[in-house]
Amino acid sequence: MIQAFPPSSPADQAIRGALLDFVDDPFYVPQDQAVRYIPDGLLVIREGHVAAVGAYADLSPTLGDMPVADYTGQLITPGFIDTHIHYPQTGMMAAYGEQLLEWLERYTFPTERQFKDPTHARQVADFFLAELLKNGTTTALVFAAVFPESVDAFFEAAAARNLRMISGKVMMDRNAPDYLCDTAQSSYEQSRALIQKWHGQGRLLYAVTPRFAATSSEAQLKAAARLLDEFPDLYLHTHLSENVNEVAWIQDLFPQYQGYLDVYDQTGLVRQRSVFAHGVQLSDQEFQRLSQAKAALSFCPTSNLFLGSGLFRIEQAKNKAHPVKVGLGTDVGAGTSFSLLQTANEAYKVAQLRGQKLSAFKALFLATLGGAKALCLEDKIGNFDPGKEADFIVLNPQATPLLALRNPTGLAHRLEGVAEQLFSLLIMGDDRAVQATYIMGELAYSSPST
Ligand SMILES: [Zn+2]
Repeated sequence: MIQAFPPSSPADQAIRGALLDFVDDPFYVPQDQAVRYIPDGLLVIREGHVAAVGAYADLSPTLGDMPVADYTGQLITPGFIDTHIHYPQTGMMAAYGEQLLEWLERYTFPTERQFKDPTHARQVADFFLAELLKNGTTTALVFAAVFPESVDAFFEAAAARNLRMISGKVMMDRNAPDYLCDTAQSSYEQSRALIQKWHGQGRLLYAVTPRFAATSSEAQLKAAARLLDEFPDLYLHTHLSENVNEVAWIQDLFPQYQGYLDVYDQTGLVRQRSVFAHGVQLSDQEFQRLSQAKAALSFCPTSNLFLGSGLFRIEQAKNKAHPVKVGLGTDVGAGTSFSLLQTANEAYKVAQLRGQKLSAFKALFLATLGGAKALCLEDKIGNFDPGKEADFIVLNPQATPLLALRNPTGLAHRLEGVAEQLFSLLIMGDDRAVQATYIMGELAYSSPST
C-alpha cells in the first residue's frame, strides 16, 4: 500500500524505502561492486544534504525524534540528470518531417525568436522546470536562446526552485536569420555579463554555449574559448557530429581543420568541462581525443531517432582503453520526451540495433552518477554518499495497471530481481512512475495520483 506524505520542509528528515544508487561505474566493474542496493534503507537528510545512508534497522535507532517519510515498496534513486536539453523548444516538440538542418530553419529558429520577450521566456521556463521535476529530473544542462533575457528568465525560475541548473546564452553569428544573430564581440560581452551575474550564484552554473560550429565564425568560437580562460569552472556546451550532412557542411566551412571535433579543438573548446551533444558520427580517433581531453558526450537517443541522425556508439564511448564520460540527454525539442526513463528505453533500443546490450543498471548509471560525472558534479550530486546534495526521486514500480501486472510482488531483495524490475520501469515507465521529487531534501513534486 502506497501512502502519500506531506513535506516536512524545511526540517531535517529521514526517507525510508528501497535505496538504489551507484558507487562505481557498471561499465567498468561488476554490477555488484558498482550498485548499492538497500532493500529496506534509510536516507538521513540534514540541512539539505545526505547525512547518512544505510539499512533502516541500523540507522533508525539513531534518529531521535526526526520524522520519517515512509516509501516502503518504492524505489528511491538519485534525481535524474539531463545532460542536454533546450528550454525554448519546450513548445515545439514533435515538429514533423525534417532532418537536422531543415528542422532548425523551419521550426527552431522562428520558435526561439520569441525568447527576446522576458515575460514569454519566464512562462516557458516555469513550465519547463515543472515538467523536469514531474519527470524526476533534478539537474540539467540547458540551452537558452540567443537573447540574454532568455538566460535571466531561466536562471530566475531555477533559483526560485533552488535547483542545480547549468545554462547559457546561445552564441551564433552566421548561417541563421538576422533576428537571431549576434556577433563575436557582442556574444562575448553579453555572455561575460551573464557569467558575472549568474555563475556560482546559489546552485546555478554557467555554460558558454555556441550552438554549433556551422552557426559560429572562427572568431566567435575563439571568443568562447577566451571566456573559458577568464573564469574558473565554466562549462562549454555545444553540438557535435549529429548528422551526416551537418558533418559534411562543417568540413566545407572549415576546410583548414581535420574534421568536426578538430574545429572545436583548434579553437580551444575541447576541455575537461566541455559537454558535446550527440557525437553520433564520430570517428574512433575523435572518441580518443575526447577521452584524452576528459570532455563529455551527451547521448540523446530519442532525438537521434526522431531526426533520423543515426545510432550512437555507446560501447565505443565507454571503451575501457579510452573512456569518454557519457550522460543521457533528452534534447527536447528534437527529443520526444522529457522522461529520462523513456530516454533510457530508446538508448536500450539504439544499443540493440547495433548488436549491443545496455543493462538496466548501466542505463540508470548514465541517468544519475554518469551524468554527474559528465558534468563534473560528482562531488555534489549523482548518488547517496554522505555530504551530497539531497536531490532524489521516488519511483513507483506499480505506477500503472500494466506496471503493477508486470511487478506484482513488490520490490525484490536481490540485485538480479531488482534489475528486472528496474528494466520494466525504464521500458514501460515515464512521468507516471515518478511518485515524488525532492530537492535539497524538500518535497518539490508529488504525483497527484497518490
Ligand atoms: Zn540539442
